[in-house]
Amino acid sequence: MAGELMTTTYPLSLPFVEGRAVEPGSGVHTALREPATGEPLGRLLTADEACVDSAVLAARRALDGPWRRTSPVTRSRLLHRLADELEAQHDALSMLEARNVGKAITSVRAEVSHAVDTFRYFAAATAAIEGKSSRPNGALAFQSFREPVGVVAQIVPWNYPLLMAAWKVAPALASGCTVVLKPDPATPLTALRLAELALDAGIPPGVLNVVPADGPRVGSHLVRHAGVDRVAFTGSTATGGEIMRLAADPVKRLSLELGGKSPTVVFADADLDDAVPGAVWGAFTCAGQSCEARSRVLVEDEVFDRFLERFLDQSRTLRVGDPLDPDTVVGSLISTAHRERVHGFVERARAAGAQVLLGGVVPAGPGAFYPPTVVLAPRDAEIVRDEVFGPVVTVQRFRDEEEAVALANDTKYGLFATVWTGDPGRAQRVAAGVRAGTVGINHPYTTFPGVPFGGFKQSGFGREFALETLSEYLESKSVLTWTSRRPANPLR
Ligand code: NAD
Repeated sequence: MAGELMTTTYPLSLPFVEGRAVEPGSGVHTALREPATGEPLGRLLTADEACVDSAVLAARRALDGPWRRTSPVTRSRLLHRLADELEAQHDALSMLEARNVGKAITSVRAEVSHAVDTFRYFAAATAAIEGKSSRPNGALAFQSFREPVGVVAQIVPWNYPLLMAAWKVAPALASGCTVVLKPDPATPLTALRLAELALDAGIPPGVLNVVPADGPRVGSHLVRHAGVDRVAFTGSTATGGEIMRLAADPVKRLSLELGGKSPTVVFADADLDDAVPGAVWGAFTCAGQSCEARSRVLVEDEVFDRFLERFLDQSRTLRVGDPLDPDTVVGSLISTAHRERVHGFVERARAAGAQVLLGGVVPAGPGAFYPPTVVLAPRDAEIVRDEVFGPVVTVQRFRDEEEAVALANDTKYGLFATVWTGDPGRAQRVAAGVRAGTVGINHPYTTFPGVPFGGFKQSGFGREFALETLSEYLESKSVLTWTSRRPANPLR
């Protein structure tokens, strides 16, 4: 079975609208390839504008049908069933994702588990959807109801295709919304599988529609669509700005999860036995193609040399290669074109005088591999300031706590920060000083069910994977009832 999963190809994948695969008249035929080998994985016919129109219409019909009136308990049961379906397909989904994205299978298996947890978390969270009531004065009864926002367009990137889809779809369905999900056309397979499994779980046709397509033409058509009530986007900051403009006419609710340039901050009083592997994990897991990659390592002067030596040693030994090998830590990048972009940052840094301490060389042979790369560069260097989105990390030194916080904040982004210190008071002071959506203290891990995840500054707005995420998919409706026999004259 595992062998078969490693070699199966997918003849033609199609958009999934109102419970079935559809063939868009003017979609684009694209070849899907395994980035690690360059071998064909399958083919996709992308959605066109007409397909997006029919997906939005299907989502509206489903919303206006029985779905809007489903109880939170019913939706909870359906989301649990979908989690069961995903769990039953764990091996197949992991293999599919690892082959399509090129990421190490061990990481991808954890992502699929995380996707299952996401559906279970929001299945349970439906219990929190409740209203309020009060008597603002003797004659008035006030009730507040929570209602689904409506039809939601959700756009996700290629780096965590199933997990990002789960983070978006689960809270939307838990809230009673219906969804048109647009995955990246390079990595559509697990999102399409998710839509099929949703149907198998008993979620009605039209509640979850999936339209893989290019961003600028078909994606922007979806964002502008008058039938869409809300847009939820994960991707780069540049595209996020464009989405914001497109979602303004007609006005739509919006949340953006964007890029990052997150720091690992290591103080001299940290336990380096933990901080070094933690910093390596934060920098290079998923080959650095994570929004929350800790791509800037900031180290206190006193331990800088000791830390750096151990950091380089451990980074050097990471297994780079076949994503399907369970010992691989750093798989392939998404494409050779993306590798060129990543390598371009390193080349320009080198030309500007930065020291490349490790890696920085494009390996020969097939696949889009790139080695763990460590660069010593000044704080105003492009490679320190811009998101590289690959296994490339910069190291900088600082003198004291004040400078550590200043350097951590010396970025337009604010998604995440990890702090390593033996002093609990300092940990709290630094956490308070850093302008980021999440701060981890003495561990490198990033996302847990129920812990709000999202950005400050140019990393976006809105929070995912937590109870407050439900509010983004719910409207409050206030109902006021005059309870005395005759309404009072408001002018008297
Ligand atoms: P991208 O912005 O190029 O594309 C993201 C998605 O938007 C894709 O589906 C793409 O087709 C679509 N798109 C592009 N232009 C569009 C348009 N004009 N209208 C509608 N849709 C459009 O990003 P990417 O390169 O695919 O992903 C990497 C980026 O995503 C990085 O910046 C990373 O930090 C960010 N990211 C953020 C988070 C987070 O939670 N903050 C998570 C994962 C990735």
